[in-house]
Amino acid sequence: MRPIKEIIIHCTATVEGKMVRVSDVDRWHKAKGWNGIGYHYLIGLCGEVWQGRKIEIAGAHCTGHNQHSIGICYVGGLDKALRPKDTRTPLQTAALQQLIKELKFKYPNVSVHGHREFANKACPCFDVKELEV
Ligand SMILES: [Zn+2]
Repeated sequence: MRPIKEIIIHCTATVEGKMVRVSDVDRWHKAKGWNGIGYHYLIGLCGEVWQGRKIEIAGAHCTGHNQHSIGICYVGGLDKALRPKDTRTPLQTAALQQLIKELKFKYPNVSVHGHREFANKACPCFDVKELEV
């Protein structure tokens, strides 16, 4: 097993309310020439926690951090005018919090970050510090 030091949160950068599934992200990432979905988890609009890439395998979601991190992505991140926005539904917020809690139990030394801490992007469009409970 590779060392897990960080959990990095993302958004799909899709319009609020738009349904996105693992198969969609898988297709988008394959189109970029990647080995399928680059995230390890995708959180659906109704709080579904879908498995993406296997945890044992390094993700493709954050340059310089993929080898030692787990990538979690929630569906959404843009308002109707395509501006960055925290579009998480209450179910997504709860699912994200629960998933992070479970992962922190499994990997006690991990720190949690938003993609924007490591890249010049708005992703995931909210301050992940609020998830630190
Ligand atoms: Zn991101």
